[in-house]
Amino acid sequence: MINIEKNKDYIIDITALGVNGEGIGKLNNFTVFVNGALEGEKVEIKLIKVNKSYGFGKLLKIIEASPYRVESKCAIYNKCGGCSLQHLLYDEQIKYKKKKVIDCLIRIGKLNLKSEGIIVHDTIGMDIPYRYRNKVQLPVGDKAIGFYSAGSHNVIDVKECIIQHEAGDKVIHIFKEWIKKYNISHYDEKKGTGLIRHIMVRKAFKTGETMVVIVTSSNKLPFAKELIEELTLNIDGIASIVQNINTKNTNVVLGSECKTLWGKATIIDTIGEFKFNISPLSFFQVNPIQTEILYNKVLEYAKLQGDEVVFDAYCGTGTISLFLSKRAKEVYGVEIIAEAIENAKENALQNDVENAHFYTGEAEKVIPKLISEGKKADVVVVDPPRKGCEKSLLEAIAKMSPQRIVYVSCDPATLARDLGILEELSYRTVEVQPVDMFPMTGHVEVVTLLTRRETTK
Ligand code: SAH
Repeated sequence: MINIEKNKDYIIDITALGVNGEGIGKLNNFTVFVNGALEGEKVEIKLIKVNKSYGFGKLLKIIEASPYRVESKCAIYNKCGGCSLQHLLYDEQIKYKKKKVIDCLIRIGKLNLKSEGIIVHDTIGMDIPYRYRNKVQLPVGDKAIGFYSAGSHNVIDVKECIIQHEAGDKVIHIFKEWIKKYNISHYDEKKGTGLIRHIMVRKAFKTGETMVVIVTSSNKLPFAKELIEELTLNIDGIASIVQNINTKNTNVVLGSECKTLWGKATIIDTIGEFKFNISPLSFFQVNPIQTEILYNKVLEYAKLQGDEVVFDAYCGTGTISLFLSKRAKEVYGVEIIAEAIENAKENALQNDVENAHFYTGEAEKVIPKLISEGKKADVVVVDPPRKGCEKSLLEAIAKMSPQRIVYVSCDPATLARDLGILEELSYRTVEVQPVDMFPMTGHVEVVTLLTRRETTK
């Protein structure tokens, strides 16, 4: 019997990877989570937190390493709160993500993969799983610009971030020089003093346009001319420099007021054949390469012939709705955030799409209302946030009896729960496709096709 004591060192076998890529092992029946340890490894840990049946260990030494362990390519990997899987070979990362989805489907969804013939495809990974992000938000601290360390608001100084587009690294360098040269103050969130809060960089991968946003605590910006000159001379594709003013003492990065300092107020990027205007405040998927793959999978599963009515619940700025509109008769997008719906309408207009209609409100309220007004969907797409769909929405959808449901999910656990509910409502899970939108992290996106059972249970 092993005695469990805080601050004591133990040797432990790691037998699985948890939902965020953390190693999991057991001391008797006591479960220990160890960041940085991999399945199949024997490691030495210090128990730093002890709860009733589980605790957290700090990795001290790897005694037997996994054959899939690789050296991280990032200088600040051990300090930064961003990535969690850089020490695992990429091919194994995508296998782990598939396994994670299957585990949830069986354990939470109670789906019987074999007897039901449910196909779970291999995760679609990236050819180059680095430099994939088109947006970076960098807090500015005392002599440091970078990222928060894991679980804190201490800013770690960053020279390069290898999951971001290179434009981010160059902008960081320019800001560091400018702040030093002109003695520009950084915002101190504890005291509420100082000027520069965050820097945001957005890169349109297809058009090459770059946007730099300087988030400040007031509408001042000394030495702006000098900063603009450096940015316009050195940043490829620079098209927009914006000051965003956030006077509130809050964790939220952006304020509501934007002032264009140079160039345009928005940049343009494309996904597939569609063009999107991106402002500092608008939502746009951060991995544009995988987003296109994801949306094409949605389109494939929707199997549209041209005469269908489609509902797109949780539509955000309407990107999936636009993708579907070319092959459907009508698309109805529903989203809770009013600004996103305004963007969605603008996006439809900009792309000459006339058969997509957008509604603000909770999907679980608006969709039943659309149905009561006589609208009936042949195909329904849902793309909810992590908490998944409200049961009442799934019931309303099932009652309308569409042929197909395409479920896009960023959390396999709530996806599995909802697939279990849909199974009870006569919808059979047919195909499940994990897509790796966030290499080097534990996250996985999943597209699932469900069809209506012929006979009700
Ligand atoms: N389909 C979009 C965005 C999906 S993210 C895309 O691919 O870009 C999930 C969206 O659901 C967010 O935009 C969020 O604002 C919205 N949302 C959250 N709860 C909601 C609810 N109850 N009803 C409708 N939309 C909701």
